[in-house]
Amino acid sequence: MLKLDGVTIRQDDFTLTADLCIPTGAHVAVIGPSGAGKSTFLGAIAGFVPVSAGHVIWDRQDLTALGPSGRPVSTLFQDNNLFPHLNVFQNIALGLKPSLRVTTTERAQIDQAMGRVGLSGFGARKPAQLSGGQQSRVALARVLLRARPLLLLDEPFSALGPALKAEMLTLVGDICAETNITLLMVTHDVGDARVISEQTILVADGHATGPFPTAELLDNPPPALRDYLG
Ligand code: ADP
Ligand code: MG
Repeated sequence: MLKLDGVTIRQDDFTLTADLCIPTGAHVAVIGPSGAGKSTFLGAIAGFVPVSAGHVIWDRQDLTALGPSGRPVSTLFQDNNLFPHLNVFQNIALGLKPSLRVTTTERAQIDQAMGRVGLSGFGARKPAQLSGGQQSRVALARVLLRARPLLLLDEPFSALGPALKAEMLTLVGDICAETNITLLMVTHDVGDARVISEQTILVADGHATGPFPTAELLDNPPPALRDYLG
């Protein structure tokens, strides 16, 4: 279980509070108006953003004092964090070995991850030789290999067309279900929330609240969400 216990995040004159629990293995959407603090909320879980009060706890382990690399968390942003000078295989291998010196076993793991995301045979290509959807798949294979129990997505597929985006959301959902990864995904498209998650966290008016059943929240939105949905 991921627990944000009495958390307050302050950045200049911006304040966000969060006091909530997310069960292990849940797939949770994070929605709310632009600038409400969705990325900040994920950043506090990943360790990029310090909290000024409260605790971030995963499975009884207090993460609050740990930096991003010490946390059981992978984060995917819209830009996919790919290195242009490295090929697909190397970009994925970085998830295991920053030195890129992989053992035979690790090579097999990387090949397996490439297969799982539909990139078999693409190992020698550079990111520039891939479509946007394929680039997202590389980033996903790296996440798979890192095998961290928490995956945070910050609008990662918003640059893709609707069909490709739906395909990637399904792939992410399947991979997380297979590996019991707990998934939090920021989206500005409430349709995505309905697709990926039965539960949704609302970030609005300085508070992260929920998770709420997605359908109930969207069918009967509180005022802050109603304004945003239009
Ligand atoms: P969202 O992802 O929901 O659009 P953000 O989390 O990016 O919102 O931003 C929430 C608020 O925090 C905004 O008011 C933004 O201006 C502010 N903010 C974001 N990053 C920083 C920072 N590094 N320092 C100060 N304020 C920040
Ligand atoms: Mg954001």
